[in-house]
Amino acid sequence: MKAVAVFPGKADTAHLTEIPKPRLEDVPDGRGVLVRVLRVGLDGTDKEINAGEYGAAPEGFDFLVLGHESLGVVEDVGRAVTELAPDDLVVARVRRAGSSLYDRIGMPDMTTDDAYFEHGISRVHGFLTEYYVEEPEYLIRVPTALRDVGVLLEPTSVVEKGILQAYEIQRRLKVWQPARAAVLGAGTIGLLAVMALRNRGLEVFAFGLDPPPCLNSELVEALGARYVSTKQTTIQEAAEQHGTFDLVFEATGFSPLAFEAMCVLLGKNGVIVLSSVTGGMRRVEVPSDAINLDFVLGNKVMFGTVNANREHFEAGVRDLAVAEAQCPGCLERLLTHRVEGLERFDEALRLLGTPGAIKVFVEVAPL
Ligand code: BGC
Ligand code: ZN
Repeated sequence: MKAVAVFPGKADTAHLTEIPKPRLEDVPDGRGVLVRVLRVGLDGTDKEINAGEYGAAPEGFDFLVLGHESLGVVEDVGRAVTELAPDDLVVARVRRAGSSLYDRIGMPDMTTDDAYFEHGISRVHGFLTEYYVEEPEYLIRVPTALRDVGVLLEPTSVVEKGILQAYEIQRRLKVWQPARAAVLGAGTIGLLAVMALRNRGLEVFAFGLDPPPCLNSELVEALGARYVSTKQTTIQEAAEQHGTFDLVFEATGFSPLAFEAMCVLLGKNGVIVLSSVTGGMRRVEVPSDAINLDFVLGNKVMFGTVNANREHFEAGVRDLAVAEAQCPGCLERLLTHRVEGLERFDEALRLLGTPGAIKVFVEVAPL
Protein backbone atom coordinates (compact mmCIF):
# COMPACT_ATOMS: atom_id res chain seq x y z
CA MET A 1 0.00 0.00 0.00
CA LYS A 2 1.00 3.64 -0.45
CA ALA A 3 2.61 5.70 2.31
CA VAL A 4 4.25 9.11 2.63
CA ALA A 5 7.64 8.85 4.33
CA VAL A 6 10.71 10.96 5.15
CA PHE A 7 14.34 10.18 5.95
CA PRO A 8 14.57 11.79 9.43
CA GLY A 9 17.44 14.19 9.93
CA LYS A 10 17.60 15.07 6.21
CA ALA A 11 15.83 18.08 4.73
CA ASP A 12 13.01 17.83 2.18
CA THR A 13 12.89 14.07 1.80
CA ALA A 14 9.11 13.53 1.87
CA HIS A 15 8.27 10.94 -0.76
CA LEU A 16 5.63 8.42 -1.73
CA THR A 17 6.61 4.84 -1.01
CA GLU A 18 5.17 1.33 -0.82
CA ILE A 19 4.90 -0.56 2.46
CA PRO A 20 3.21 -3.90 3.23
CA LYS A 21 -0.44 -3.73 4.25
CA PRO A 22 -0.70 -4.57 7.97
CA ARG A 23 -2.70 -7.59 9.12
CA LEU A 24 -4.96 -8.07 12.14
CA GLU A 25 -2.54 -10.76 13.34
CA ASP A 26 0.22 -8.18 13.73
CA VAL A 27 -1.33 -7.56 17.17
CA PRO A 28 -1.26 -10.70 19.35
CA ASP A 29 -4.13 -12.44 21.16
CA GLY A 30 -6.86 -11.41 18.71
CA ARG A 31 -6.65 -7.80 19.93
CA GLY A 32 -5.92 -6.16 16.56
CA VAL A 33 -8.11 -3.51 14.97
CA LEU A 34 -7.66 -2.88 11.24
CA VAL A 35 -8.33 0.77 10.42
CA ARG A 36 -8.68 2.33 6.97
CA VAL A 37 -7.29 5.87 7.02
CA LEU A 38 -9.71 8.58 5.90
CA ARG A 39 -8.01 11.86 6.76
CA VAL A 40 -4.67 13.00 8.12
CA GLY A 41 -4.11 16.55 9.36
CA LEU A 42 -0.69 18.16 9.12
CA ASP A 43 0.95 20.70 11.40
CA GLY A 44 4.20 22.47 12.22
CA THR A 45 5.65 19.24 13.59
CA ASP A 46 5.36 17.59 10.16
CA LYS A 47 6.99 20.63 8.62
CA GLU A 48 9.90 20.42 11.08
CA ILE A 49 10.29 16.70 10.46
CA ASN A 50 10.41 17.25 6.70
CA ALA A 51 12.95 20.02 7.29
CA GLY A 52 15.16 17.40 8.98
CA GLU A 53 15.02 19.23 12.32
CA TYR A 54 12.95 16.75 14.30
CA GLY A 55 11.74 13.15 14.19
CA ALA A 56 13.30 9.67 14.28
CA ALA A 57 12.82 6.49 12.23
CA PRO A 58 11.64 3.26 13.90
CA GLU A 59 14.37 0.81 14.81
CA GLY A 60 15.47 -1.17 11.78
CA PHE A 61 14.18 1.43 9.29
CA ASP A 62 15.87 4.35 7.56
CA PHE A 63 12.51 6.02 6.87
CA LEU A 64 9.57 7.22 8.96
CA VAL A 65 5.99 7.23 7.68
CA LEU A 66 4.64 10.71 8.47
CA GLY A 67 1.27 11.73 9.92
CA HIS A 68 0.00 11.86 13.50
CA GLU A 69 -3.41 13.61 13.28
CA SER A 70 -5.69 10.87 11.97
CA LEU A 71 -9.28 9.93 11.35
CA GLY A 72 -10.12 6.45 10.16
CA VAL A 73 -12.82 3.83 9.96
CA VAL A 74 -12.62 0.36 11.49
CA GLU A 75 -12.63 -2.30 8.79
CA ASP A 76 -12.10 -5.45 10.82
CA VAL A 77 -11.46 -6.49 14.42
CA GLY A 78 -9.71 -9.46 16.01
CA ARG A 79 -11.70 -12.13 17.85
CA ALA A 80 -10.95 -10.68 21.29
CA VAL A 81 -11.95 -7.08 20.51
CA THR A 82 -15.23 -5.99 22.13
CA GLU A 83 -14.62 -2.24 22.33
CA LEU A 84 -14.95 -1.48 18.62
CA ALA A 85 -16.76 -2.82 15.57
CA PRO A 86 -16.50 -2.39 11.80
CA ASP A 87 -17.68 1.03 10.54
CA ASP A 88 -16.79 2.79 13.81
CA LEU A 89 -14.93 6.05 13.24
CA VAL A 90 -11.71 6.22 15.24
CA VAL A 91 -8.78 8.50 15.98
CA ALA A 92 -5.49 6.96 17.09
CA ARG A 93 -3.49 8.19 20.05
CA VAL A 94 -0.04 9.40 19.06
CA ARG A 95 2.27 8.24 21.84
CA ARG A 96 2.98 4.57 22.61
CA ALA A 97 4.11 3.26 25.95
CA GLY A 98 7.82 3.29 26.78
CA SER A 99 9.20 1.94 30.03
CA SER A 100 8.91 4.59 32.76
CA LEU A 101 6.43 4.37 35.62
CA TYR A 102 4.04 6.68 33.78
CA ASP A 103 4.18 4.58 30.63
CA ARG A 104 3.25 1.55 32.68
CA ILE A 105 0.11 3.17 34.13
CA GLY A 106 -1.32 4.35 30.78
CA MET A 107 0.24 7.82 30.80
CA PRO A 108 2.95 7.67 28.11
CA ASP A 109 2.32 11.39 27.55
CA MET A 110 4.08 11.88 30.90
CA THR A 111 7.00 9.59 30.15
CA THR A 112 10.34 10.29 31.78
CA ASP A 113 12.15 8.11 29.21
CA ASP A 114 14.58 10.01 27.02
CA ALA A 115 13.46 8.19 23.91
CA TYR A 116 9.71 8.46 23.37
CA PHE A 117 7.53 6.73 20.81
CA GLU A 118 5.13 8.84 18.74
CA HIS A 119 3.38 7.71 15.56
CA GLY A 120 4.60 9.72 12.60
CA ILE A 121 7.09 11.64 14.75
CA SER A 122 9.41 9.49 16.79
CA ARG A 123 10.35 5.82 16.34
CA VAL A 124 6.90 4.59 15.19
CA HIS A 125 5.42 4.92 11.70
CA GLY A 126 2.54 7.35 11.25
CA PHE A 127 -0.81 7.39 9.54
CA LEU A 128 -0.13 8.98 6.12
CA THR A 129 -0.88 5.64 4.53
CA GLU A 130 -3.90 3.53 3.64
CA TYR A 131 -4.29 1.19 6.63
CA TYR A 132 -2.92 0.60 10.10
CA VAL A 133 -3.46 -2.03 12.77
CA GLU A 134 -3.69 -0.95 16.39
CA GLU A 135 -4.81 -2.15 19.82
CA PRO A 136 -8.19 -0.81 21.04
CA GLU A 137 -6.46 0.88 23.97
CA TYR A 138 -4.86 3.30 21.51
CA LEU A 139 -8.05 4.10 19.58
CA ILE A 140 -10.73 6.63 20.46
CA ARG A 141 -14.21 6.19 19.02
CA VAL A 142 -15.67 9.29 17.40
CA PRO A 143 -19.44 9.69 16.99
CA THR A 144 -20.64 9.81 13.38
CA ALA A 145 -22.03 13.29 14.01
CA LEU A 146 -18.41 14.48 14.35
CA ARG A 147 -17.12 12.82 11.17
CA ASP A 148 -16.51 16.12 9.36
CA VAL A 149 -14.39 17.54 12.18
CA GLY A 150 -12.99 14.31 13.65
CA VAL A 151 -9.55 15.00 12.19
CA LEU A 152 -9.33 17.89 14.69
CA LEU A 153 -9.42 15.51 17.65
CA GLU A 154 -5.66 14.99 18.04
CA PRO A 155 -4.82 18.71 18.29
CA THR A 156 -7.88 19.09 20.55
CA SER A 157 -6.48 16.42 22.86
CA VAL A 158 -3.28 18.45 23.29
CA VAL A 159 -5.39 21.47 24.31
CA GLU A 160 -7.49 19.40 26.71
CA LYS A 161 -4.42 18.07 28.44
CA GLY A 162 -3.14 21.60 28.99
CA ILE A 163 -6.42 22.86 30.40
CA LEU A 164 -7.19 19.82 32.55
CA GLN A 165 -3.73 20.05 34.08
CA ALA A 166 -4.17 23.77 34.75
CA TYR A 167 -7.33 22.98 36.72
CA GLU A 168 -5.60 20.11 38.49
CA ILE A 169 -2.67 22.33 39.51
CA GLN A 170 -4.98 25.10 40.68
CA ARG A 171 -6.61 22.81 43.23
CA ARG A 172 -3.82 24.25 45.40
CA LEU A 173 -6.12 27.29 45.69
CA LYS A 174 -9.09 25.30 47.13
CA VAL A 175 -11.63 27.65 45.54
CA TRP A 176 -10.16 28.52 42.14
CA GLN A 177 -12.87 30.10 40.02
CA PRO A 178 -11.20 31.23 36.81
CA ALA A 179 -13.23 33.86 35.01
CA ARG A 180 -10.90 35.10 32.28
CA ALA A 181 -8.45 33.42 29.95
CA ALA A 182 -6.01 34.67 27.34
CA VAL A 183 -5.08 32.44 24.44
CA LEU A 184 -1.90 33.40 22.62
CA GLY A 185 -2.05 32.32 19.01
CA ALA A 186 -5.12 31.95 16.81
CA GLY A 187 -4.03 28.97 14.71
CA THR A 188 -5.50 25.48 15.11
CA ILE A 189 -4.33 24.98 18.71
CA GLY A 190 -5.26 28.53 19.73
CA LEU A 191 -8.74 28.25 18.22
CA LEU A 192 -9.35 24.87 19.83
CA ALA A 193 -8.20 26.30 23.16
CA VAL A 194 -10.71 29.13 22.71
CA MET A 195 -13.40 26.52 22.10
CA ALA A 196 -12.52 24.43 25.14
CA LEU A 197 -12.26 27.45 27.48
CA ARG A 198 -15.53 28.95 26.25
CA ASN A 199 -17.18 25.57 26.84
CA ARG A 200 -16.02 25.88 30.46
CA GLY A 201 -17.67 29.30 30.77
CA LEU A 202 -14.60 31.53 30.73
CA GLU A 203 -14.42 34.92 29.08
CA VAL A 204 -11.69 34.46 26.48
CA PHE A 205 -9.41 36.88 24.67
CA ALA A 206 -7.43 35.40 21.77
CA PHE A 207 -4.27 37.08 20.52
CA GLY A 208 -3.44 36.64 16.84
CA LEU A 209 -1.08 38.37 14.46
CA ASP A 210 -3.25 39.67 11.65
CA PRO A 211 -5.50 42.68 12.07
CA PRO A 212 -9.20 41.84 11.93
CA PRO A 213 -11.27 41.08 9.99
CA CYS A 214 -9.53 37.87 8.94
CA LEU A 215 -10.58 34.22 9.06
CA ASN A 216 -8.85 33.72 12.43
CA SER A 217 -10.59 36.71 13.99
CA GLU A 218 -13.94 35.63 12.56
CA LEU A 219 -13.53 32.14 13.99
CA VAL A 220 -12.47 33.49 17.40
CA GLU A 221 -15.63 35.59 17.46
CA ALA A 222 -17.84 32.77 16.16
CA LEU A 223 -16.56 30.66 19.05
CA GLY A 224 -17.64 33.40 21.44
CA ALA A 225 -14.31 35.06 22.30
CA ARG A 226 -12.68 38.45 21.63
CA TYR A 227 -9.83 38.85 19.17
CA VAL A 228 -6.80 41.11 19.67
CA SER A 229 -4.25 41.65 16.89
CA THR A 230 -0.72 41.93 18.25
CA LYS A 231 0.12 44.02 15.19
CA GLN A 232 -2.38 46.64 16.39
CA THR A 233 -2.15 46.26 20.17
CA THR A 234 0.90 45.22 22.18
CA ILE A 235 0.53 42.69 24.97
CA GLN A 236 1.26 45.52 27.41
CA GLU A 237 -1.49 47.73 25.97
CA ALA A 238 -3.91 44.79 25.98
CA ALA A 239 -3.27 44.23 29.70
CA GLU A 240 -3.83 47.94 30.39
CA GLN A 241 -7.11 47.91 28.44
CA HIS A 242 -8.52 44.54 29.44
CA GLY A 243 -6.81 43.62 32.70
CA THR A 244 -4.95 40.42 33.60
CA PHE A 245 -6.02 36.79 33.24
CA ASP A 246 -6.50 33.78 35.51
CA LEU A 247 -5.26 31.40 32.83
CA VAL A 248 -2.96 32.05 29.88
CA PHE A 249 -2.59 29.42 27.14
CA GLU A 250 0.49 29.94 24.96
CA ALA A 251 0.23 28.45 21.47
CA THR A 252 2.05 30.82 19.13
CA GLY A 253 5.24 28.86 18.50
CA PHE A 254 7.14 32.07 19.31
CA SER A 255 8.89 31.57 22.66
CA PRO A 256 9.69 35.23 23.51
CA LEU A 257 5.96 35.86 23.77
CA ALA A 258 5.69 33.37 26.62
CA PHE A 259 8.12 35.44 28.69
CA GLU A 260 6.30 38.65 27.90
CA ALA A 261 2.92 37.14 28.73
CA MET A 262 4.02 35.64 32.03
CA CYS A 263 4.94 39.13 33.27
CA VAL A 264 2.24 41.23 31.75
CA LEU A 265 -0.88 39.15 31.18
CA LEU A 266 -0.92 36.70 34.07
CA GLY A 267 -2.90 37.77 37.14
CA LYS A 268 -2.18 36.93 40.79
CA ASN A 269 -2.49 33.17 41.54
CA GLY A 270 -2.67 32.66 37.78
CA VAL A 271 -1.43 29.76 35.69
CA ILE A 272 0.28 29.92 32.31
CA VAL A 273 0.31 26.86 30.07
CA LEU A 274 3.15 26.50 27.56
CA SER A 275 2.27 24.27 24.59
CA SER A 276 4.50 25.41 21.71
CA VAL A 277 7.12 22.90 20.54
CA THR A 278 9.87 25.39 19.63
CA GLY A 279 12.70 23.51 17.94
CA GLY A 280 14.87 26.58 17.25
CA MET A 281 17.79 28.19 19.07
CA ARG A 282 16.34 31.65 19.70
CA ARG A 283 17.74 33.65 22.63
CA VAL A 284 16.23 36.81 24.09
CA GLU A 285 17.05 39.01 27.03
CA VAL A 286 14.36 38.93 29.73
CA PRO A 287 13.83 40.99 32.91
CA SER A 288 14.65 38.01 35.11
CA ASP A 289 14.46 39.75 38.50
CA ALA A 290 11.09 41.26 37.65
CA ILE A 291 9.67 37.95 36.37
CA ASN A 292 10.99 36.05 39.36
CA LEU A 293 9.66 38.61 41.84
CA ASP A 294 6.30 38.73 40.12
CA PHE A 295 5.97 34.93 40.24
CA VAL A 296 6.98 34.82 43.89
CA LEU A 297 4.80 37.69 45.12
CA GLY A 298 1.89 36.63 42.91
CA ASN A 299 1.95 32.88 43.67
CA LYS A 300 1.98 32.18 39.95
CA VAL A 301 2.50 28.90 38.12
CA MET A 302 3.98 28.16 34.72
CA PHE A 303 4.06 24.65 33.27
CA GLY A 304 4.71 22.92 29.98
CA THR A 305 2.49 20.32 28.37
CA VAL A 306 2.98 17.87 25.53
CA ASN A 307 0.93 15.14 23.88
CA ALA A 308 -2.17 13.63 25.54
CA ASN A 309 -3.56 10.39 26.87
CA ARG A 310 -6.94 8.69 26.49
CA GLU A 311 -8.65 10.91 29.06
CA HIS A 312 -7.74 14.02 27.05
CA PHE A 313 -8.91 12.55 23.75
CA GLU A 314 -12.23 11.67 25.38
CA ALA A 315 -12.58 15.19 26.79
CA GLY A 316 -11.82 16.42 23.27
CA VAL A 317 -14.69 14.40 21.81
CA ARG A 318 -17.07 16.00 24.31
CA ASP A 319 -15.83 19.54 23.68
CA LEU A 320 -15.99 19.14 19.89
CA ALA A 321 -19.57 17.83 20.25
CA VAL A 322 -20.61 20.76 22.46
CA ALA A 323 -19.04 23.28 20.08
CA GLU A 324 -20.70 21.62 17.06
CA ALA A 325 -24.06 21.81 18.81
CA GLN A 326 -23.57 25.40 19.88
CA CYS A 327 -22.15 26.73 16.68
CA PRO A 328 -22.97 24.31 13.86
CA GLY A 329 -20.42 24.48 11.06
CA CYS A 330 -17.94 26.68 12.97
CA LEU A 331 -15.34 23.99 13.56
CA GLU A 332 -15.45 22.88 9.96
CA ARG A 333 -14.25 26.35 8.99
CA LEU A 334 -10.92 25.53 10.65
CA LEU A 335 -10.39 22.91 7.94
CA THR A 336 -9.21 25.43 5.37
CA HIS A 337 -7.26 23.19 2.98
CA ARG A 338 -8.25 19.71 1.84
CA VAL A 339 -5.74 17.94 -0.37
CA GLU A 340 -7.11 14.85 -2.07
CA GLY A 341 -4.98 11.72 -2.24
CA LEU A 342 -1.70 10.61 -0.67
CA GLU A 343 0.03 11.36 -4.00
CA ARG A 344 -0.48 15.07 -3.41
CA PHE A 345 1.44 15.12 -0.10
CA ASP A 346 3.91 17.74 -1.40
CA GLU A 347 1.11 20.19 -2.04
CA ALA A 348 -0.18 19.65 1.50
CA LEU A 349 3.29 20.23 3.00
CA ARG A 350 3.71 23.36 0.90
CA LEU A 351 0.41 24.78 2.14
CA LEU A 352 1.47 24.54 5.80
CA GLY A 353 1.91 27.99 7.29
CA THR A 354 0.78 29.85 4.15
CA PRO A 355 -1.53 32.85 4.65
CA GLY A 356 -5.11 31.79 5.28
CA ALA A 357 -4.16 28.20 6.12
CA ILE A 358 -5.48 26.99 9.47
CA LYS A 359 -5.79 23.19 9.20
CA VAL A 360 -4.34 21.54 6.12
CA PHE A 361 -5.29 17.88 5.76
CA VAL A 362 -4.90 15.05 3.29
CA GLU A 363 -8.07 13.23 2.36
CA VAL A 364 -6.68 9.74 1.97
CA ALA A 365 -10.10 8.19 1.24
CA PRO A 366 -13.55 9.83 1.02
CA LEU A 367 -15.56 10.04 4.28
C1 BGC B 1 1.87 16.40 18.41
C2 BGC B 1 1.96 15.78 19.78
C3 BGC B 1 3.40 15.45 20.08
C4 BGC B 1 4.26 16.68 19.93
C5 BGC B 1 5.73 16.44 20.23
C6 BGC B 1 2.79 17.56 18.30
O1 BGC B 1 2.72 18.08 17.00
O2 BGC B 1 0.56 16.82 18.09
O3 BGC B 1 1.13 14.63 19.83
O4 BGC B 1 3.52 14.93 21.37
O5 BGC B 1 4.12 17.18 18.61
O6 BGC B 1 6.35 15.52 19.39
ZN1 ZN C 1 0.81 17.78 16.14
